[in-house]
Amino acid sequence: MRVVALAGGTGAAKLLRGLAASLDPSALSIVVNTGDDAEVWGLHVSPDLDSVMYALAGVLDAGRGWGRADETFRCLSAMAAYGAPTWFGLGDRDLATHLVRTHALRAGQSLSAVTADLARALGVAPRLLPMSDEAVRTTIRTPDGRLGFQEYFVRDKCQVDVLGVDYDGAAGARPAPGVLEAIRDAHLVVVCPSNPVTSVGPILAVPGVADALTATRATVVGVSPIVGGAAVSGPAGALLRARGLPVSPIGVARAYAPWLRVLLVAREDAACAPELAAFGVTAVATDVMMPDRERETALARVVLEQA
Ligand code: GDP
Repeated sequence: MRVVALAGGTGAAKLLRGLAASLDPSALSIVVNTGDDAEVWGLHVSPDLDSVMYALAGVLDAGRGWGRADETFRCLSAMAAYGAPTWFGLGDRDLATHLVRTHALRAGQSLSAVTADLARALGVAPRLLPMSDEAVRTTIRTPDGRLGFQEYFVRDKCQVDVLGVDYDGAAGARPAPGVLEAIRDAHLVVVCPSNPVTSVGPILAVPGVADALTATRATVVGVSPIVGGAAVSGPAGALLRARGLPVSPIGVARAYAPWLRVLLVAREDAACAPELAAFGVTAVATDVMMPDRERETALARVVLEQA
């Protein structure tokens, strides 16, 4: 069975680890958000690609949910001594990824090509596809002006009012090679529990992706990142509200209309099933929290059962 997942960072990484453990990992393709890519110290950082890659390679830091395990931050302290900005805390091992990626991009390689090389070197079997090889940058509109996603998320810790979200460059971007074909040829498309506005939203803003999701014969199944009226973590609640969407599985389903077919929701949210049905979405109430590997795999199995 060929499976395609649309993914952001931390929430997606957990479900993807479960999926990779539950099926032939070479049958899994993952389309990853690059809207929150950023330039740090002159290096091209792809936070979501790296979280997913590190998780699947078994080297993701479990406590932080991003970056590499067994990390040190000696370069960061040395940069602080030079007065360089240090709010984006790059670790020493993690730096190697950004150095290789930046070098390859400057030498003219595409982001998809260097992503495939990095993933192969770390022993990652599923196919990792950036949503686009071209720059799409998620920008947050606030009362004081526009912020890059990492300025909003990491530097300002989401403590600003959000008026709106833009995906700069999306209208002119093309899906990376293989993205549309993977969606077209899949038996199952999984929308990971990721931020609908700033992780999945940028993927959907790349021309052709939403049409491919509408046209595919695959079952499209999502996992709600919203449980009991709030995001499990991060700013998904505030961002759904800024979009005028309810902070509930209904808001998630509306963000993924008209192509979402099944939404896995927490048992406490089971009452939203009739309203979801009105959108053509079947609700499946289950345990959607993934605090450990066992529950990652258990949730992945429920996802795969929807095919
Ligand atoms: P990030 O925001 O860049 O960290 O990356 P994501 O787009 O993956 O955002 C994390 C999303 O995953 C948030 O909206 C969380 O609510 C959601 N999330 C995190 N952990 C879990 C979990 O165990 N279960 C579910 N259902 N959602 C989760």
